Amino acid sequence: MSMNPFDLQAPIAGIKKIILVGSGKGGVGKSTVAANLALAMKQSGQKVGLLDADIHGPSIPRMFGALYQKPSFVKSETGKARMQPLVRHGLFLMSIGFIVEESQAVIWRGPMLFKALDQFLHDVDWGELDYLVVDLPPGTGDVALTMAQRVPVAGAVIVCTPQNLALVDARKAVDMFQQVHVPILGVIENMSYLTLPGTNGSPSQRVQLFPRGELNSFLDQSKIPKLGEIAFDPHIGLSSEAGIPIVASEPDGAISQQFSDIAENVIRATTTE
Ligand code: ADP
Repeated sequence: MSMNPFDLQAPIAGIKKIILVGSGKGGVGKSTVAANLALAMKQSGQKVGLLDADIHGPSIPRMFGALYQKPSFVKSETGKARMQPLVRHGLFLMSIGFIVEESQAVIWRGPMLFKALDQFLHDVDWGELDYLVVDLPPGTGDVALTMAQRVPVAGAVIVCTPQNLALVDARKAVDMFQQVHVPILGVIENMSYLTLPGTNGSPSQRVQLFPRGELNSFLDQSKIPKLGEIAFDPHIGLSSEAGIPIVASEPDGAISQQFSDIAENVIRATTTE
């Protein structure tokens, strides 16, 4: 009898729900969204961990001002050394970037990659978490497939920008998650529009930085919800560069409100009454 790869699936003790954050391609703001979404979920009272599994460019260490940090190991009662996540703004963080140099992780392939992912899931002292948010590499590669096969995933969130050029790739991500039976919670449209400084931000004063394409009609047809829109805002980039994501640095700002609404949508979509 041939073995089904999903037979290897095992829950992680202490972690209630795993959310994957993916994108069709790089540069759409997936890591930025993953980090700020995790923070917004934390602010709404959940216990949240953020796992940076983006082997092509782990950006969580930089975004949280934790470059060159090394996780410590603590021996458990069984004598096994377990990695301690870093804690920033009440969020539990682990990144491939804490283990290897920023430029090194990309060479991970096959068994090495699987072993590393297994360690991140099972040898990290995550404690009790309501949610583990996983920042996947862009595209439809091994990491997403491995996650889907190894652990029960509550759902995937796909980050996309408004234009049709980006939609082509987002659809591939949708297909991939459907093929591995990961429920798609919805799409977050990032860099939806630009609000000019000095204007009141009303829709008529917005600048369409990227042309709006057929994303909305694709989502309607596929019955995939849009979880929310995030404006293009230079403060988002500045905050990330400074090592404090915008939801932590400007918690009362308009962008944080957008993330907070999305966090509520994600929590609702993964909660069965
Ligand atoms: P990805 O993970 O998809 O490759 P990143 O999250 O690294 O993308 O974002 C790419 C760049 O775009 C970063 O410099 C980030 O600060 C910036 N960025 C992401 N989203 C926004 C936004 N809504 N407004 C302004 N800059 C953004």
